[in-house]
Amino acid sequence: MKIVTWNVNGIRTRPSLKEDIESLDADILCFQETKVTRDMLEEPVAVIDGYNSYFSFSRKKTGYSGVATYCRESCTPVKAEEGLSGTLASGKGDVGCYGNLGYFGKEELESLDAEGRAIITQHTVRNSDGDVKDLAIINVYVPRVDSERDDRKEYKLRFLTLLQTRAEALLTQGSYVIVVGDINISHRMIDHCNPDSEEFNLRPDRQWLNRFLWSEGQDSSLEVKDEQELLQISTPDTKSGQFIDSFRYFYPDEKDAFTCWCTLTSSRVTNYGTRLDYILGDAGLVKSSLKACVQMVEVQGSDHCPVKAEFSLAGVAAIKAPSLCTKYMPEFAGKQQKLSSFFVKAAKKESVNASEEVIELTSSQSSQESNKSVESNPEKKRPLVEDSGKPVLKKPKLESKKSSEEGKQANLMSFFRKKQLANTKPEPVKQKSNGDEKSSDITNGERIQDKTVDKKLVEASEKVVKTTDTKPETVKSSSAAWKGLLGGLGKPPLCKGHKEACVIRMVKKDGPNKFRQFYVCARAEGHSGNPEARCEHFEWLDKNKKKKL
Ligand code: ZN
Repeated sequence: MKIVTWNVNGIRTRPSLKEDIESLDADILCFQETKVTRDMLEEPVAVIDGYNSYFSFSRKKTGYSGVATYCRESCTPVKAEEGLSGTLASGKGDVGCYGNLGYFGKEELESLDAEGRAIITQHTVRNSDGDVKDLAIINVYVPRVDSERDDRKEYKLRFLTLLQTRAEALLTQGSYVIVVGDINISHRMIDHCNPDSEEFNLRPDRQWLNRFLWSEGQDSSLEVKDEQELLQISTPDTKSGQFIDSFRYFYPDEKDAFTCWCTLTSSRVTNYGTRLDYILGDAGLVKSSLKACVQMVEVQGSDHCPVKAEFSLAGVAAIKAPSLCTKYMPEFAGKQQKLSSFFVKAAKKESVNASEEVIELTSSQSSQESNKSVESNPEKKRPLVEDSGKPVLKKPKLESKKSSEEGKQANLMSFFRKKQLANTKPEPVKQKSNGDEKSSDITNGERIQDKTVDKKLVEASEKVVKTTDTKPETVKSSSAAWKGLLGGLGKPPLCKGHKEACVIRMVKKDGPNKFRQFYVCARAEGHSGNPEARCEHFEWLDKNKKKKL
């Protein structure tokens, strides 16, 4: 089994991702800094023939951070999960096994997983003894430290400690574990073109890596300045020396073996770089099964080069990819337009958090993301970009929507209305074909009793349909639309097919049921045999009320 890790510095801008993936010749490819958020994901990136893929997205900024793992069909994982802490677990096909998270706060865990920095896939493998084992591959993009910002320094250290907690928990459970990715730490002085000899080993993230890794005769105890740092980079449960750096296992003293170079200074030509990208296998696995590890410096197309390791393991493909697989996303599974599916997916979440997430995606900072920095002393070498933004979670404004807001709101409504069409088998709406003219949907918090108001909204939505058809990707409209989704009715019922919160719709068609509201499955429509697509759930809000005449 061959595994590649590569910080691609933007996955959407590659001329041919498929060619890249094929030429890297690996069974499992772990990419970091995809700079793809959920709103941007498109089919050429999401679905590559012969592979199945799993993404983690930033919830804070659009076009920021992000990791993705692509698996050859022969190594289709059994489980897949976004994040390290379980706060993003979907409830279906998660990897699980989190370790003791009692040393982290709830909000801290959410924050550590909110930047799309980790995805875990769990595979079934057969080792050279013929034993069948689990293998968890943790693909991470560790935050880079902005030396000016103590909060980011702490964020990085806590992320590392959470990573260790999860990796060691999976290991203790009996799984093989491989941590791969851009760790954003040069481990030893030979891993850095310009190490600061005084402070180099005392940096707490480096201390963390020292302890995390096993190496012959090395003292793995922590040497930190104060107790606070000790608490940031360890818990009473974290161990030492459980993992091995695959590259150094074969080349312990090789100099100038860098994986990242500054593009602004063209330092790749002079090989003036750092080694930040690692394949860290658990000690048992590395000692028994690691066959090779190379840094593929000849591969261009990013400010990092890929690193590849080969293990004497054979993948045993799962029969069915786990539900996190991109091919099940509504817009790729069915024929839905991208924006539409996105809304439906988000609508399931039914919470204020969900609305924050979508609203936050509108503040684009992707233009700042094109510059990169070497992890240490960045202020001397290049501008600080990655962490200089303010990834703050803004509270959604719960203003009452009027006039100008109404048009935007109509976007969401028109979309719901569109989705209406082929969908609902039950009576009034099932007009089929362009039956979207027949009904209109409203959302939680927008319960409208007054028919005249409703009419206005319906008219507005009709106006917008034409414009949204041409530009379905206007994420901006989502924020306004979401404002209408908050508050209002109590919890919606769970759909029969997925046990997920339903959305509310309303009959617009003239007739006895006009303006009646009903619940349906929140998912996007898809092939009828596709379990990930919308189920048949239908129920009136006013079940007990008699039909109007
Ligand atoms: Zn459903």
